[in-house]
Amino acid sequence: MKVLVINCGSSSLKYQLIDSDTEAVLAKGLCERIGIDGRLVYQKAGCDKEITDAPMPTHKEGIQLVLDALTNEKTGAIKELSEVEAIGHRVVHGGEEFASSAVITDEMIAAVEACNELAPLHNPANLIGIRVCADLMPGVPQVGVFDTAFHQTMPKKAFLYGLPIEYYKNYKVRRYGFHGTSHSFVSKRAVEFLGLDKENSKVIVCHLGNGSSISAVVNGKCVDTTMGLTPLEGVVMGTRSGNIDPAIMEYVAKKEGLDLAGITNVLNKKSGLQGLSGVSSDMRDLEAAAAAGNEDAKNAVEVLCYSIAKFVGGYVAAMNGVDAIVFTAGIGENDGFVRETVCSYLGYLGIEIDKDANGKRGEEVVISTPDSKVKAVVIPTNEELAICRDTVALVK
Ligand code: ADP
Repeated sequence: MKVLVINCGSSSLKYQLIDSDTEAVLAKGLCERIGIDGRLVYQKAGCDKEITDAPMPTHKEGIQLVLDALTNEKTGAIKELSEVEAIGHRVVHGGEEFASSAVITDEMIAAVEACNELAPLHNPANLIGIRVCADLMPGVPQVGVFDTAFHQTMPKKAFLYGLPIEYYKNYKVRRYGFHGTSHSFVSKRAVEFLGLDKENSKVIVCHLGNGSSISAVVNGKCVDTTMGLTPLEGVVMGTRSGNIDPAIMEYVAKKEGLDLAGITNVLNKKSGLQGLSGVSSDMRDLEAAAAAGNEDAKNAVEVLCYSIAKFVGGYVAAMNGVDAIVFTAGIGENDGFVRETVCSYLGYLGIEIDKDANGKRGEEVVISTPDSKVKAVVIPTNEELAICRDTVALVK
């Protein structure tokens, strides 16, 4: 079955066409600058990227251009649009309504809309993608795959904040967690790859990218995760602060003459590695700057590794043990220094790093030594494939 996977943002849209039988990506790309001017990036498997500037006043023109590119006589990946048998959409927030992926119906859309307030930047954009696809490809079944769903198994003690309980009861203020599609995919694959017992396994997944989150997974079920009501909480990220003393907000707001929205903007866009280093939010830039002697960049990398190690240690306690620590996403898959530094805090668990294995990049690899008690492993994430698999499972 050919599945179109769509990840629709407010001014951009990523897509992949996947053959679910072989799990091969037939074509992929993105629409950028929707509502501004418009650019289509399209790449058929085995071919070079094609970049076309084309007007995209709304997502509708963008998706139409994607469909035209996919069926283009010369460079298309399919002959007819009817070959696309299902569409899988990333949906950021499913609130407490969705503990798993769901076929898109009118009722489902209404339930997602009810969660819009919790993800005002993301959910409305995700819904636009769903509506445009329904318009342009009527009759093709669509599935929503939620970033929050995997974390719905967290117990109350993990998802409640120490706030007046009415905030949870009246406003649904609680930990939801994000990157769930990645945490689910990577934790399952780690259990398979390491030959762990599915029904008796304790895994910590470190999804370290521009946005980062860590989760604790017992027997395939998430028991805790670092992101919260929003993706701002947890470890230090590219531009997001992660955990801070909440009282800092009022203190700095007064000093800097900022209102609540201004402070929240700083915490989301000007903090984290970017804020600490004053150099960049990108680990590659930071490590280059640190190597060239920039102290702030060096400190930023140290704060990141220390912050990850503290969460991992906390989750070992939460699960009363751990079988494997799994690294994934841009930094987790590529940055051997971060992996080694994080693991150097975890020697008490009996983790020893194999330097040669840790030098590999972007592949599934055990980076701990054979006699290491707890395994450390790299598993590349693949959220699009996870969305494709869920879509097929629901529409077949
Ligand atoms: P997103 O959250 O946007 O999906 P990614 O998972 O692509 O992010 O991760 C982006 C991060 O991965 C950036 O900080 C980038 O510097 C880092 N990264 C990518 N390649 C490397 C590399 N070779 N070495 C170190 N860091 C890398």
